[in-house]
Amino acid sequence: MSIAVRQNIAETYRFLDSLAKADILDEGKTNTYLIAALEMIGPCLITSVRSDHGDDSSLGPHGHSSGFAADIWPNDDTSDLAIARFLESLIANTYVWTIGTGGLAQGAYALVTPPKDDRMIVFPDNTTNHIHIQAANKYGSGLRA
Ligand SMILES: [Zn+2]
Repeated sequence: MSIAVRQNIAETYRFLDSLAKADILDEGKTNTYLIAALEMIGPCLITSVRSDHGDDSSLGPHGHSSGFAADIWPNDDTSDLAIARFLESLIANTYVWTIGTGGLAQGAYALVTPPKDDRMIVFPDNTTNHIHIQAANKYGSGLRA
């Protein structure tokens, strides 16, 4: 993923923590599939990426600690329906294969038709308003484990 895409995300998406923005710009900190997923999602609020997140390496090889995951939230409209539409777009995203619903996203997920694609994993995350995404090319590379 080109540095131009990383720079566009850093400049047009919102970040709770400047460390997360720096991670997005650093090819050594964030995997190219995560950048591809975020590009497809479009501008949103990024609540956590890697340097501003706790160590989750014990949960598997594709989490925050390895640069494959981000926590995000819709930019403006955070009604249940808007969050549900946002979740549906994540389910359809080529590069998102695991979604964790945090806080209000858990209730909003009730409005979503669950994915029939068995390559998708959706799990209830904690009570903080965020949506955890893990990235890979779910239709290609075999990165998924
Ligand atoms: Zn997360």
